[in-house]
Amino acid sequence: GAAAWARALVKTYGSGPTAVHALDGVDIDFAAGKFTAIMGPSGSGKSTLMHCMAGLDTATSGTVMVGAKEIGRMKQRELTRLRRTDLGFIFQSFNLIPTLTAAENITLPLDIARRPVDRAWFDEVVAAVGLGDRLKHKPDELSGGQQQRVACARALVSRPAVVFADEPTGNLDSHSAGEVLAFLRRSVEDLGQTVVMVTHDPRSASYAHRVVFLADGRIAGDIADPTHETIL
Ligand code: ADP
Ligand code: ADP
Repeated sequence: GAAAWARALVKTYGSGPTAVHALDGVDIDFAAGKFTAIMGPSGSGKSTLMHCMAGLDTATSGTVMVGAKEIGRMKQRELTRLRRTDLGFIFQSFNLIPTLTAAENITLPLDIARRPVDRAWFDEVVAAVGLGDRLKHKPDELSGGQQQRVACARALVSRPAVVFADEPTGNLDSHSAGEVLAFLRRSVEDLGQTVVMVTHDPRSASYAHRVVFLADGRIAGDIADPTHETIL
């Protein structure tokens, strides 16, 4: 994985007296090969920050770098390619294709981009995600936790610079959530991935190496090696 950072990041919705400053001057560094959680109350700017970092949304002003690429200077077409090949995404909903097997879902991004599958890397990711003999199964034959682990493997298969996860355990029971979070942590520690995760759940955030807190569009706290207690 690569590093990503933002400087003086501002995102304003609307204008004049009713303008909403979703991000109000954010400076942040996401180190390569670290698992960072972003927490904060509803409306504090978590999704906006993630979307601006991931090229899903354009900041009003400021600089965003992912690896060696400056997101703000990229054209729509370049952004789309960046999202497809250099970034990984995991959402609350698994977004798997029901007619494809788990293995086919995992390699779909590469197939769409007409890029070859690096078999050694595929095997490493699949081993780390712990899907074992479920690779030939279709999504409806898998539990929710297994489906989200397929989605995790799909996010990693292109060796992205950064994996962005938005409430990845929001639809899971706590046991399945633990398996997904343990995998994300392993993908960082064993495979060197960079992971940025938005969550409102302290237990989820405690799997990260670092927790950044947002409040009213600004950084309000930043702790290393969080435990369930230090987050609360
Ligand atoms: P969080 O993810 O922490 O809940 P968001 O980033 O979604 O916060 O939202 C930050 C602020 O920006 C909130 O006040 C929200 O209402 C506002 N906001 C988000 N998206 C839009 C939008 N498309 N149009 C107008 N306001 C928005
Ligand atoms: P495509 O044109 O193939 O849909 P996109 O560039 O639109 O590709 O999307 C790339 C990735 O970003 C996909 O994994 C998609 O799920 C995700 N994505 C796109 N738009 C949004 C959005 N508004 N919110 C969250 N994720 C999104």
